[in-house]
Parts: sequence; structure tokens; C-alpha cells
Amino acid sequence: MTTQFLEMPDEKGYFGEYGGQIIPPELKAIMDNINDAYEEVRKTEAFQNELHELYTDYVGRPSPLFHARRLSNRQGGAQIFLKREDLNHTGAHKINHCLGEALLAKHMGKKKVLAETGAGQHGVALATACALVGIDCEIHMGEIDIRKEHPNVTKMKILGCTLVPVSRGTRTLKDAVDSAFEEYLKDPVNFFYAIGSVVGPHPFPRMVRDFQSIVGKEARAQFLEKRGRLPDVVTACVGGGSNAIGIFTEFLTDEKVRLVGVEPAGKGLDTPEHAATMTKGVKGAIHGFECYNLQDQEGNPLPVYSIASGLDYPGVGPQHCYLKDIGRVQYETVDDKQCVDAFMVLSRTEGIIPALESAHAIAWAMKAAGEMSAEESILINLSGRGDKDVDFVSDYLSL
Ligand SMILES: *Cc1c(COP(=O)(O)O)cnc(C)c1O
Repeated sequence: MTTQFLEMPDEKGYFGEYGGQIIPPELKAIMDNINDAYEEVRKTEAFQNELHELYTDYVGRPSPLFHARRLSNRQGGAQIFLKREDLNHTGAHKINHCLGEALLAKHMGKKKVLAETGAGQHGVALATACALVGIDCEIHMGEIDIRKEHPNVTKMKILGCTLVPVSRGTRTLKDAVDSAFEEYLKDPVNFFYAIGSVVGPHPFPRMVRDFQSIVGKEARAQFLEKRGRLPDVVTACVGGGSNAIGIFTEFLTDEKVRLVGVEPAGKGLDTPEHAATMTKGVKGAIHGFECYNLQDQEGNPLPVYSIASGLDYPGVGPQHCYLKDIGRVQYETVDDKQCVDAFMVLSRTEGIIPALESAHAIAWAMKAAGEMSAEESILINLSGRGDKDVDFVSDYLSL
């Protein structure tokens, strides 16, 4: 295997035929400017030291690598290991890239960081990073989501960000994106639009990947130290794809390590209620870049669904699309029932309540482990903790 994908994306932001900048020329200049600023600071020791000091002293990195012995015994096959991103400050991997983006915005002298949020996970991580870095933060959120996600809304307010309720259209994420984007267009020179995953126009898929790649770097070294060899399989859930690319990147050139991304099959791949972009999507443009996506006949993004709100995105990161096409990463699906089952099993065998997003990867690994030998091993990126999901699961299972 070549190292071609380590040099990706190309200078136009393409991973093969995916990615790029499908945006108006005015915005292209702004994105190029962000790319130049990022290229410049990322090579400086000052920026890297500042970021890595925050990873250590603020996020609590390195996150532990945990051998889930009771879960492994229960499945009766491969040894299962968890990369504990759930133990990060704010409870998930998102803080890794939000800190990077907030720092870059500050270095560029931007006045305000802007974003939309659906369930509020991106909003809380970004508001946290902005409070720490000392830069204004404005989050757009649909009114329906505001009503549903009370704890996250309260956290964002306490953290000092400006919360803009969106009352138009569906009053959910889709319209929050439009609302935040309109605000951004009012002054893109002074505002910074912080994208929440490895999606959007270049340079975001690359930048967010770089900020998340700390996860795989740590995990690979920790695994080698613990086991004296590499894992046979590395797996992670895929929404936009940031936690997955974060753990995969360091293993891409380890040919023998099988990489598996897990998407939500929701209520079934034969129903409209899923978000299995890789499995069921077609090639096209969405939100400023080319990728596999779920769209209607006219090419508009379809309303997608997942029991895990962090996974319900109709597109997916361009690098994932490329890695699928060349066969380096395999994409599988897990439905709601399997996800909730894995959520309960991990809670009761290891005392770890996972995010419903992460439970998709756990469900796939549980199934795969049983078909492997006890000498083999699976490394799962446990992207976040499940505190946010306990009331939902309790209702869902009538506990
Ligand atoms: C947001 C989120 C995800 C999905 O985002 P990716 O960019 O695909 O990683 C997964 N897990 C958790 C815990 C999240 O909060």
C-alpha cells in the first residue's frame, strides 16, 4: 500500500473525487485565507505547544486505553479494547477539534465564532472552547431542539455563548444551519464558522482530521505498549466522521489492521429512517463539498434519522468516501435495537455508560468479536459518554 492518502487532500482540498470547495467565489477567498492561516500556524511550535498543553492539562489527555475483559469474555472471541474519549473534559472527542478551531480563530484575530447545533453536543463543546480561549461564541439552534435538549441549552447559557433560537421551517438542525450560515455571510472576514466534523468545504475536513488525529496516535502507542503488537481491527461510529478519522489516521499504513466505520441503520435500511450515507448514498455535493450523501430526486439532502442525534447527518466526510472507494476502510451498519442492546451490555459488564453514537461501534464489535479468536483484538473508539442518553434509553426500554 502506498502512503498517498497521507498527503491528502490535494491543494484544492480533494481526496480523490471528494471534498473541494463547492461554494461562491467570495467565500472561496475566505476559505483559502483560513487554509493559509492554518498552514502557517500548524507548523509553528508555539501553536502546537499551546494546543498540546490544553490537550494535556485541560482535556485530560492522553485518554486511557482500557481492556474490556468482561465484555471480551462475554462475547467469547477477540479481546476488546476501548479508547476512552468519553473521559475527556465535556465527555466526548468533539473538544479535540473545537479547541483547535477556537485557537485558530483567535490567532486569526476573528471577533466571533459561529456554529449551529442539533442536539447541542457541538454547541456545548464549542462554547466550552471559546470560554477558555476567550472569544465570543454564537450558537444557532432550532426551537424544537431547544425544547428537547434542556441540559445542553442550559450549559451553553452558563458557558456564556449567545444562543440564537431558530423559529423558521422545521425549527430543527436543518434550519439552524441556514440561520447560522446567513449570520456568517454578514461578515465572514471577522467571523469564524466552526464546523463540527470532518465535513464542509476545504480546509475543514483536513483541519478537523488533523486536530482529531491525536486519538489514533495515542491509541496506537498505548496498544503497542500494552500488547506488544497492533490490534487486528479498529472501529468507530461514523456521523460526519471525525472520531473515526481521528482514530483511523495513524493506522492507515498498517496494512494488516482492518478499519471499520459503523453507520446508523436506524429503523432499517429499507425504511427512510436511517442515516447510512456510505451504504445507501449517492455521489453529489452538499454543504459546500462532494461526498456520498442521501438526497431526493432533485438533489436536496433527505431528512435522515438516527437514534443517536450525533449520527444523523445526510453527508459524510470526503476522506471517508475516498477510503471506501479504495477499499482501505469498510463501512458497516447497526440498527437502533442493536445499538440500545450494546448500550446496556457495556453498562452492565464494564460499568461504562456509552453515548448512543459510540454504542453503534460497540454493537458491531460485539458481533465481530464472537467470530474472531481469543488471540485477536478489536480496538473501539469510545467517542463519548452516555449521560445525555440515560433518560431516553430509560423511556425506550420502559426501565
Ligand atoms: C457528535 C458525536 C459523534 C459523531 O460525530 P463524528 O464526527 O462522526 O465523530 C459521535 N460520537 C459522539 C459521542 C458525538 O458527540
